[in-house]
Amino acid sequence: MTIGILSIQGSFAEHHRMLRHLGVATREIRTPMDMAHVHGVVLPGGESTTMTRLLEETGLDKALAMAIMHGMPTFATCAGTILLAKNIESGMQLLDIDVTRNAYGRQQASFDVELTHVDASLQADTVRGVFIRAPKITRTGDNVTTLVSHEEHPVLVQENHILAATFHPELTRQYTIHQYFLERMVLPHHT
Ligand code: GLN
Repeated sequence: MTIGILSIQGSFAEHHRMLRHLGVATREIRTPMDMAHVHGVVLPGGESTTMTRLLEETGLDKALAMAIMHGMPTFATCAGTILLAKNIESGMQLLDIDVTRNAYGRQQASFDVELTHVDASLQADTVRGVFIRAPKITRTGDNVTTLVSHEEHPVLVQENHILAATFHPELTRQYTIHQYFLERMVLPHHT
């Protein structure tokens, strides 16, 4: 099983580390050809405006959107989530949520909290939430499930084969969410 990680900008090295720690092979996605033979994709955190520009330049915007539209298991964090949100017109618009970018005020631009509203399916009591100039999810569609929330706002959501966080599990040593993605979303799709 190989997971492709969008590796043009942002926290991609950290996602590679997390997934390799869990025993799966990872591949860097930098061109549309790199999408061949992967069983899932990760869209990392970073800077969504820069990522959008690089995706267009490399032709990855269409290749990724096509794969995700056809059911490729997908895990997005922070900027990656922005790339998928419905209301971001420059993005792929494949996940039925709306987001507001950089929605935590200046004082709170970055913070690290123990998230306690965690769905039982994650098999963890708490999740460590590292938020860095994070977006807020302001709307979730009918088919979107909230798996973790913080102060009434969803911060980890799932719609079918797409899992999206507004924080950065890849910047921690807690493997819960990567494990959930592999076991609950990639493996069943693969076998
Ligand atoms: N603020 C960034 C953006 O709008 C996202 C931040 C992140 O990924 N940590 O793209």
